[in-house]
Amino acid sequence: MYGNRSVALIAAMLLLLLAACSEQSPTPPNVAATPQPAKPIVLKLAETWGPNYPIFGDATQKLAALVEQMSAGRLRITIDSANKHKAPFGVLDMVKAGQYDIGHSASYYWKGKDPNTLYFTSMPFSLTAPEQLAWFYYGGGIDLMQKVYAKHGVLSFPGGNTGNQMGGWFRKEINSVEDLQGLKMRIPGFAGEVLAKLGAKPTNIAPGELYTALERNTIDALEWVGPSLDLRMGFHKIAPYYYTGWHEPGTELQFIVNQKTWDGLPDDLRTILRTAMQAVAFDMYARAFHDSAENWAAMKREYPDIQVKTFPNEVLVALKRANDELLAEFAAADPVAKEIIDSLASYQAKARGWTAISDQAYLNSMPD
Ligand code: CA
Repeated sequence: MYGNRSVALIAAMLLLLLAACSEQSPTPPNVAATPQPAKPIVLKLAETWGPNYPIFGDATQKLAALVEQMSAGRLRITIDSANKHKAPFGVLDMVKAGQYDIGHSASYYWKGKDPNTLYFTSMPFSLTAPEQLAWFYYGGGIDLMQKVYAKHGVLSFPGGNTGNQMGGWFRKEINSVEDLQGLKMRIPGFAGEVLAKLGAKPTNIAPGELYTALERNTIDALEWVGPSLDLRMGFHKIAPYYYTGWHEPGTELQFIVNQKTWDGLPDDLRTILRTAMQAVAFDMYARAFHDSAENWAAMKREYPDIQVKTFPNEVLVALKRANDELLAEFAAADPVAKEIIDSLASYQAKARGWTAISDQAYLNSMPD
């Protein structure tokens, strides 16, 4: 050990050294003491929607703003809309290929590439939005979705719910099952398969081309979303019948993230991205409900000729039967499809029991 004299000597030498340093001018830059901020990680996002599309596009813009703020600028997202990448229905392929890191779209658009993707948007006669959100986050839905998307090298997350969708805009009334024969309708997802089984001719058309397709009789009817987004599309000017929904009781959009991009992010930025996706998805659900309420009030006031209809019971019974038969066929053809279909069915039985004595009972028992 050092003696007291040695300690005093070392202290004196240190003082001299410090004094000498403080007299040196200018002080050489000390890189370690003033760290430069790390270069931000910039992720590219492709969305199916056109530029600044309300509600859907707001979700991606809010995601970009939120991750930048939450990460203090370390994580940034740039957004390319359909006008830029020109492939509204190519979002999965582009994220899969690594051309984009993130996508915002709807899972059922990929049914032609992988039929098992179509169960994760909304299924006819299936879960309402709150029931489906419960299934996704707590009933195993996200795990099943990931099982399907793993082979595509992407992660999939809920991306915002539109709530119950309207059955669509029709130029002619549908009074019987025969009226569906040959009906050319824009309707994606499983509902399109159901209508095809009853003799209709379903098709999918990108949002930007919908109005023209209906106006030029390329199609006889279409469904898009509901008042939240239908009002601005102007369909009410060319098709007077607005049918209530059966086909998309709680449409959830989707964020997809390239697996390699995800693996390359530090843990905290992954948490920020996951949390921000969940936050904007929830925000979109509230916003979509709000805009539907506002817009439907405006539509009733400004366009009193719009006729709200519900399909006759005979038609709904036929649609439900076709739906059940198709589900049985899809389940028999693929064990993963069976697992998803069974999960949705058992969750619906359980969730609907609660819905029946809560929201449904409440609405049915409102006094005049
Ligand atoms: Ca729709």
